[in-house]
Amino acid sequence: MTAAALMRIPLIDMRSSVRAPIPPLVPYVQGALVDTRHRTLRDLRISVTDRCNFRCTYCMPKEVFGDDYAFLPHDEVLTFEEIVHIAKIFHGHGVEKIRLTGGEPLLRKDIELLVEKLARELPGVVLTLTTNGSALKAKAKLLRMAGLTRISVSLDSLDDTTFRAMNNVEFPVGKVLDAIDAAAAAGFAPIKINMVVKRGVNDKDIVEMARHFKNSGNIVRFIEFMDVGASNGWKMDDVVSSAEVIRRIDQVFPCEPVNPNYSGEVAKRWRYKDGSGEFGVISSVTEAFCDTCTRARLSTDGAVYTCLFAQKGYDLKAMLRGGKSDDEIHNAIASIWQHRVDRYSEIRTSETARQKKVEMSFIGG
Ligand code: SAM
Ligand code: SF4
Ligand code: SF4
Repeated sequence: MTAAALMRIPLIDMRSSVRAPIPPLVPYVQGALVDTRHRTLRDLRISVTDRCNFRCTYCMPKEVFGDDYAFLPHDEVLTFEEIVHIAKIFHGHGVEKIRLTGGEPLLRKDIELLVEKLARELPGVVLTLTTNGSALKAKAKLLRMAGLTRISVSLDSLDDTTFRAMNNVEFPVGKVLDAIDAAAAAGFAPIKINMVVKRGVNDKDIVEMARHFKNSGNIVRFIEFMDVGASNGWKMDDVVSSAEVIRRIDQVFPCEPVNPNYSGEVAKRWRYKDGSGEFGVISSVTEAFCDTCTRARLSTDGAVYTCLFAQKGYDLKAMLRGGKSDDEIHNAIASIWQHRVDRYSEIRTSETARQKKVEMSFIGG
């Protein structure tokens, strides 16, 4: 690597423009980029919008994301061309899987055109998307035809009252279930159903969720409630551990662990002993998986974050719009990754939970 390697990469702190240098790029062999803990860069999550039509209490609580909340102005948001441009550079570093997320990604106008561009420009890359399902019924077929490989739909309860209380905008369960059917009809299989479990709120619905999706071919993933962002009032007492989720399901539907599909898979797999399918648990609080974390995140306004719990990101949009070459951006990403030390879930305490971390809707869940 050359003098370009010694560039200073601007750091962005949420929406202000605090900038700071990072250490210089260390020479490395192309294709063998690893961080300080020998983790390879494999996945990229892209937040295509910081906006959402839900106000899930654990993610975008109404008290913080109210009517007067200042979402990003349009000119700060990466265009589809810019997203594809940056994604291609990440691909050059070995990224094989891209997840579109947000905010609610289906609120981004013509999102299927982005999927189509990514599928065309990055053949072989697994393209996935996570949605709250509210606009999925109308988009499922278009997304499939555009080349989306897989889809995850978030659904926190089958009990309409509980679900409405959790999304906090009175959105009914029935519409999300219809959307899941539409996605299945469009050819997505299996569909992953994400349920964030919060004690005293929806943990009563764990077994019902398992029962509903057994035999459907779709896979529920029970996610431990996390202290993302700085506004969801997280407390350890509200977390229902994956071990408890498994225990509760096993009492009704005996189950056993299954080997991971690949090393570093975030969800631990379990299957029902009667052969009626499987479910997953994501235990980022009680069983950290930082050791195998290969994910980078690109925020809605074009900053790279190397951890879901990061407080700072590196402003690639400034580089792109400032006329930096692809090589310079490539080297910037390499340098950012080389210096990555993140292992937040391993060191989480009630103190760290209060730190001012970037919001999940902005950075991409
Ligand atoms: N709006 C889309 C959705 O809800 O699927 C995509 C963005 S959302 C931030 C991505 C995922 O993060 C969802 O499955 C959501 O349930 C999960 N999530 C959000 N806040 C969380 C929290 N505090 N703890 C655990 N998971 C969370
Ligand atoms: Fe919106 Fe998804 Fe966050 Fe819920 S979890 S508020 S649907 S971004
Ligand atoms: Fe990866 Fe950060 Fe989560 Fe650890 S805490 S698994 S480093 S995103």
